[in-house]
Amino acid sequence: SRAYNFAAGPAALPEPVLRQVQAELLEWDGVRASVAEISHRSPEFMRVATEAEADLRRLLSIPGDYAVLFLSGGATTQQALVALNFAAPGQVADYVVSGHWGKVAIKQAKDYVRANVAASGEAGGFRDIPQAAEWKLSKDAAYVHMTANETIHGVEFRPEWGALPETGDVPLVADFSSSIASEPLDVSRYGVVYAGAQKNLGPVGVTVVIVRRDLLERAGQPRADIFNYASHANAGSMLNTPPSFNWYLAGLVFKWMLAEGGVEEFARRSAEKARLLYAAIDGSDGFYRNEVAPGVRSRMNVPFFLRDDALTAAFLAGAKDAGLLALKGHRVLGGIRASLYNAMPVDGVRALADFMQDFRKRHG
Ligand code: PLP
Repeated sequence: SRAYNFAAGPAALPEPVLRQVQAELLEWDGVRASVAEISHRSPEFMRVATEAEADLRRLLSIPGDYAVLFLSGGATTQQALVALNFAAPGQVADYVVSGHWGKVAIKQAKDYVRANVAASGEAGGFRDIPQAAEWKLSKDAAYVHMTANETIHGVEFRPEWGALPETGDVPLVADFSSSIASEPLDVSRYGVVYAGAQKNLGPVGVTVVIVRRDLLERAGQPRADIFNYASHANAGSMLNTPPSFNWYLAGLVFKWMLAEGGVEEFARRSAEKARLLYAAIDGSDGFYRNEVAPGVRSRMNVPFFLRDDALTAAFLAGAKDAGLLALKGHRVLGGIRASLYNAMPVDGVRALADFMQDFRKRHG
């Protein structure tokens, strides 16, 4: 039987989706070939593409004045493309840095914009997010970039943290790679939302970009057509051969999420999973420790440490034997990290919490 997979990405996929792919792999939808083998411009694949977009729009209540793109290149590529498409050469762009990925976003954009760090949690080890009132936003910024959930540091913008700042005409650009579709999203608060699929939306290889259409009219910077979001939007994300198999698979995940009850249901499950795991950590008398400020603790990625780091290897080995996979912390932080994306059932987190309690009894 399949183990509970706590990987941060590529992450677990819903088992019913994998079973459907298995059943359809050789001959799909009456075409006597695999969906991986047919033209992306065939009527059969066009139906997949159209349905996937419609389902994602329904799932996230995406308003009509936003385009939805299915691209290759991952989230990192979007961090460069955002600058190329929405900033004039040398224009300032504001970055709110709440962890590792916020720093990467600057690295990818800094050849195209003057990146202003409007706020950063780095001095505090990225254990908290600077309050919106403290953000030093520029007057003429092309956009304000933020990372909704920091996958490595385990900090997430939560309602307890407060409301997002009003940025006026300056669009908020948000990297939602590791939290999209885990709760309702007010898309209208953002100019751009982008997310690599490999955590909550499907397999690695396809990236979703949701962009307000008026922004597509910005001149941006000299760039090849293939780096132009407007061209992708005009071509229905088929400017070149899209990652069609991944797009199909993500489409199946969207249908699964809708059938399970949509993002409201995943918000409920995510809250329950996070509650269980943080309770297991906080109730351990310091045997386990999570260092993130309570108001911004991520519901998706939970990094934690053992009081005695020498026990970490034994913890990981024991967890693996118990069918709890991929709990090793990211190399930047070490320790343990459990990722609780939509495909992780509540029972998986219960099993982890039970294992943690048992391990503590044996080693505490
Ligand atoms: N942004 C966040 C929040 C991530 O978690 C990741 C990858 O883990 C990335 C960006 C980079 O994504 P990709 O590898 O798809 O370029």
